[in-house]
Amino acid sequence: MSIASTPAVTLGTSFARQLPELAVPWQGEEVPDARLLVLNEALAAEVGLDPQWLRGPDGLRLLTGTGTPAGATPVAQGYAGHQFGGYSPRLGDGRALLLGELSAADGTLRDLHLKGSGRTPFARGGDGRAVVGPMLREYVVSEAMHALGIPTTRSLAVTGTGRTVQRETGRPGAVLARIAASHLRVGSFQYVRATGDTDLLRRLADHALARHHPAATSYPALFAAVVAAQAALVARWMLVGFVHGVMNTDNMTISGETIDYGPCAFLEAYDPGTVYSSIDHGGRYAYGNQPAIAEWNLARLAEAMLPLLHDDEDEAVALAVASLGEFREQYHGHWSTGMAAKLGLPASAAGELVNDLLPLLRERKIDFTSFFRTLPRAAAHGDRELDDWVARWRAQGPDVAAMDRVNPAYIPRNHLVEEALAAAEDGDLGPFTELMAVLARPYDERPGLERYAAPAPADFGTYQTFCGT
Ligand code: AMP
Ligand code: MG
Repeated sequence: MSIASTPAVTLGTSFARQLPELAVPWQGEEVPDARLLVLNEALAAEVGLDPQWLRGPDGLRLLTGTGTPAGATPVAQGYAGHQFGGYSPRLGDGRALLLGELSAADGTLRDLHLKGSGRTPFARGGDGRAVVGPMLREYVVSEAMHALGIPTTRSLAVTGTGRTVQRETGRPGAVLARIAASHLRVGSFQYVRATGDTDLLRRLADHALARHHPAATSYPALFAAVVAAQAALVARWMLVGFVHGVMNTDNMTISGETIDYGPCAFLEAYDPGTVYSSIDHGGRYAYGNQPAIAEWNLARLAEAMLPLLHDDEDEAVALAVASLGEFREQYHGHWSTGMAAKLGLPASAAGELVNDLLPLLRERKIDFTSFFRTLPRAAAHGDRELDDWVARWRAQGPDVAAMDRVNPAYIPRNHLVEEALAAAEDGDLGPFTELMAVLARPYDERPGLERYAAPAPADFGTYQTFCGT
């Protein structure tokens, strides 16, 4: 259905037109009782959408994919992916839709995309739906990541559907509207490579290059740019203690934005082995494994791009290996510079202090976020080894004001997120709104918000998160 009376919204169709083999025209399933639960007005303005219009009936139809402006071509996107190391040749948007592209104020394109908008031809056994709690979870964590300065897809709105969705129990249904540089994934390239169609692979690479890495002048340079973007991104995750939880190749972008907030969570006690996802039994996606997994996923991208890298296969492999070989050094560069900044020191002065600190944090199960935030003002810990380390650190003359600009006071702590989501599913959005306001300024410590800076109470227990809900 199209909305004749829609003046304000024009949705671009460059993905659907340039890559029709990856785009199945589709629309959202009908919604019994659409109600806007949360709208990101600042983000709406950034992408040229009128918040007042979005709140109206035509806006709600857009935000649920049930009515789109004339000229739009909403599509379900095809992609493949390695999930926990096992290859699935046909994943795709089982419950999602790319509505089209918006032009941001800076002239670049942004995807307007829905999650939970109903079954598509990629749905397999799934019901195509999503639940209020998990969609608000993506909203709060992605917006917190953005406020922390970390590249990420953004959340525009969560709309309740008025439908009960069957999970372990009946839960309230919702649709998330998300804004992203694009939804191209490593899995998009894998999907195309499997078709054996090199012309399509070239079109996909051209599309990705133009949108995300326009400075790249060749396909090897495009691959190198993705490697560089992911090395920088994963370093940022590690520096704030973010655990993505499901780093399958279909959940890793070509743009370098964080995508797909399912079983993600932030570390409290520092431990590289930390896993939150209820299905990650082997710890494949543990906090400390993330850089190695990113590199593994990029190797899968290299395989998919191989025919573009060089006409000669041996040469192509050599180029891929060389480029992939840059990942570790680039990652380590970003991480060690970032750790030095967390200690208020230049990289040249911090290396040994960082190496000595991490085992102390781990052995003592120290809260990662508050340790760095409170370090400038910390009294003696009454722990000889730790206090010796603090004395050595102080002797380097750290810039403590600079530390407060890189060490957040507020992160989306698991117990706070769960509390806000439980209240929201019961119809009370108060705690959610309050948490969003705190997380919007993570480096700006405010009196009265001590509760939001503190680790989980001891009785919160071992935290687990669940995906695909
Ligand atoms: P994810 O783990 O969220 O990245 O999703 C992996 C795949 O499962 C994607 O192809 C999704 O579209 C699909 N999927 C997840 N949940 C559902 C659902 N409720 N209905 C249909 N497809 C789904
Ligand atoms: Mg996904």
